[in-house]
Amino acid sequence: MGETTAHVASVAERFEELYGAAPEGVWSAPGRVNLIGEHTDYNDGFVMPFALPHATVAAVSRRTDGVLRLHSEDVEGGVVELPLTGLAPESDRTWTAYPAGVVWALREAGHAVTGADVHLASTVPTGAGLSSSAALEVVTALALNDLFGLGLKGWQLARLCQRAENVYVGAPTGIMDQTASACCQEGHALFLDTRDLSQKQIPFDLAAEGMRLLVVDTRVKHSHSEGEYGKRRAGCEKGAALLGVDALRDIAYDDLDAALARLGDEEEVRRLVRHVVTEDQRVEKVVALLESGGTRSIGEVLTEGHASLRDDFRISCPELDLVVETALSSGALGARMTGGGFGGSAIVLVEAADEETVTKAVEEAFAAADFTAPRVFTAVPSAGARRVG
Ligand code: ADP
Ligand code: MG
Repeated sequence: MGETTAHVASVAERFEELYGAAPEGVWSAPGRVNLIGEHTDYNDGFVMPFALPHATVAAVSRRTDGVLRLHSEDVEGGVVELPLTGLAPESDRTWTAYPAGVVWALREAGHAVTGADVHLASTVPTGAGLSSSAALEVVTALALNDLFGLGLKGWQLARLCQRAENVYVGAPTGIMDQTASACCQEGHALFLDTRDLSQKQIPFDLAAEGMRLLVVDTRVKHSHSEGEYGKRRAGCEKGAALLGVDALRDIAYDDLDAALARLGDEEEVRRLVRHVVTEDQRVEKVVALLESGGTRSIGEVLTEGHASLRDDFRISCPELDLVVETALSSGALGARMTGGGFGGSAIVLVEAADEETVTKAVEEAFAAADFTAPRVFTAVPSAGARRVG
C-alpha cells in the first residue's frame, strides 16, 4: 500500500505517457482514520487521527502559461485542461474541483502558482470516510508548495486545502482531515487542538503491544448524510449561542451538567452538546492512557464514543452498529464508528490473536443481515504527506 519504488516509477511513467515528458517530482499524501474525537472539529475541540498506508500519489510538473492540466487514474475520462483565470468557487461539480480548488486557494492567498500538469493515482477508498478528498488536496498542495518554493508548513497547507474544500468544492468540513494527511507521522496518532491547531504526536504502535486496529468499511453511504451533517453543525452552533460561548469546546466537562440544565427543554441541542463535551473528554482520556502505557484500556473509551454518536448525536446506522456489536461480542477490546456517520467505516481494537475471529464474525454477521460484504483491513499508523520521487 505504501509507495514502493515500483509504484512511484509507474505513476511517473504514466505521467510521461500523458504529458510527453517526465514529471519534475512525485509526492504522496495519505488517507486517515480518526481514532477518537468525532464531530468535535467544527466545535473547536480535540481530534486524534492517524495516517493510513493508503495514499494518493501525484506526479507533477510546473507550467508557466496559466494552464492547469489534471488527470486521475481512478476516474473515467482523459486529461482535463483548466485555465487558471477561469477558476471560481462552486463552478465545478466533478472531481477536478478538489485539485483545482487547491490551486485557486493558493493563488487567492497570493502565491505565484503559474500552472501545472498533474497525474494522480490513489489507493485510498473514496467515500468510505477515510478522507480520499483530503489526500487529493494535500498531495496537490504539497507538490505545488515544493515546486514553486512557497515555503508553507504542513498546517498552513492544511488550512488552504480546507478552504479549497469548503469554498471551492462547497463541502463544509472541519480541519481534521487535511491536517492529518499533511502532518501525521509513522507510528503515531496526532493529538490536534482544532482551535489553535497546536499538535502533539502521540506514540501509537499497537503491533509492538500485541494489538491490531481493524478498519471495517461498510461500503454503504446513506444518501441523507450531507444534510444531516449540516443539521448537526447548525445544532451545535445553536447550543454554543444558547450557552453564550464561542464554541462548545468552551464548555468544560465538569460544567456539563450545569450547561445541560441551562438548555432546559431544548432536547435535541442538549444531546448534541452532551456528545461534543464528553467526546472532547474522551480524546483527553485516550491521550492520557496512551501516554501512561494503558493502551488496552482505550478500547472502552472507543466503545463509549460509539454509544454517544449513536444515542446522542444520532449519526450511526444499522451497518455501523452491527460492526460494533458483533466485534464486541466476539472478543474485541473496543469499537466505534469513525468519520461523518450514516455509513463509511468503523474501527475495532483487538488483541492480535483475535484478529481473525473478529473479522470472520463481522463478515458472517453482514452476510446474515443481507448487507453488502464489508472491506476489512488492518490500519498501521503511517507517514503523512511527503515527496517520494
Ligand atoms: P472521502 O473523503 O471520505 O473519501 P469525499 O466525498 O469527501 O469522501 O471525497 C470523495 C471524492 O473525492 C470523490 O468522489 C472524488 O470526486 C474525489 N477523489 C478522491 N480521490 C480521488 C482520486 N484519486 N481521483 C479523482 N478523484 C478523487
Ligand atoms: Mg472527504
